[in-house]
Amino acid sequence: MISTYVTEAMQSSSWIRKMFEVGQELKKKYGVENVYDLTLGNPIIEPPDEFFEVLEMLSLNKSSGMHRYMSNAGFTEVRERIANHLTKKNLLKTDFKHIIMTVGAAGGMNVILRTILNPGDEVIIFAPYFAEYLFYTQNHQGKIVISETTEDFDLDLDDLDRKITTKTKAIIINSPNNPTGKTYSEEKINGLVDLLSMRQKKMKRPLFLISDEPYREIVFDDIVVPSVVAKYKNSFLVYSWSKSLSIPGERIGYIAVNPNMDDVDTVIDGLIFCNRILGFVNAPATMQLAVSNLLTATVRIKYYKEKRDRIYQALTAYGYDVVKPTGTFYVFPKCPTADELEFIERAKSERVLVVPGVGFGRSGYFRISYSTDDRTIEKALDQFGKLI
Ligand code: PLP
Repeated sequence: MISTYVTEAMQSSSWIRKMFEVGQELKKKYGVENVYDLTLGNPIIEPPDEFFEVLEMLSLNKSSGMHRYMSNAGFTEVRERIANHLTKKNLLKTDFKHIIMTVGAAGGMNVILRTILNPGDEVIIFAPYFAEYLFYTQNHQGKIVISETTEDFDLDLDDLDRKITTKTKAIIINSPNNPTGKTYSEEKINGLVDLLSMRQKKMKRPLFLISDEPYREIVFDDIVVPSVVAKYKNSFLVYSWSKSLSIPGERIGYIAVNPNMDDVDTVIDGLIFCNRILGFVNAPATMQLAVSNLLTATVRIKYYKEKRDRIYQALTAYGYDVVKPTGTFYVFPKCPTADELEFIERAKSERVLVVPGVGFGRSGYFRISYSTDDRTIEKALDQFGKLI
């Protein structure tokens, strides 16, 4: 009935989905309150009050044309506000022409890959990775190449250098990172930019860098996430309000293109065209207007930091090997047993659900999402104590 590709992709796909299904069964058997589900990346905090105030204001606005079709790139005034915001924050000096409103970061990633990839072009991602990159790349006939990160999940530029071939079209980075919570330092980003600049010069064609940044604001300990798009001309910034405002269901984000990109006008025309033909047409109108009034608002980041602190302290005290996350709401500890799936099974029998590292391209680890309530975290931590 359905395509062979989709049949196979669904079977191989998403440990998160598999664990979700396991969770549903366990919850039926033991009751929701007795299953400690740490698998989902769904923000638990409600959106900030300002979000509801802006929605109320917009619901009363009956100005003509507000809900019609628009330019496939989005409302000009919204794009202008975002461009000014990025310029003011020194993230990227740009103007509205280089901003394209998208259906979340997922929409933005698909639009970029559709625009730049020819069949067989290679896209490099860093393991452990956000597993949807595999599908986004395959959607547009690209081929994934994996670069391994170091023990503490930092970019390994020597490995990346070896992985770049004549077929490499793009490199995707994600900092703050899902699943590790890692943020890359300025020094590392500078090293990456130097490497890519040198390699594209030798190749005499662009090597695109796609910086997927839906967790940009969710950082702790005064960490500043350097702006890679400002440093490298052939780069795209992909942003979304899914996490910073806790509105993933509203599907709103944007692509910002470095204005110095090679042949930038053609690339932008391509992005706008692909936003249309992939069926997004344009990003949701009301949400565009809403977020453009909320450019400095975020959920309470301290809420996630407190959970990060509690989990890191408890797991390390129990003897788990954990790299301290500096952002997001994930932590990626090493499995205490050689067989990761056995550990996941044991955790399941204690009614704790986590996602195995193999789902992110790195076996021997597991991902905890701490975007959940304190009771669930405390109960799960008790079980982690027993498990080790
Ligand atoms: N990129 C990463 C690394 C993510 O973790 C997610 C969502 O969890 C996305 C992209 C997609 O985000 P959006 O809801 O904006 O499509």
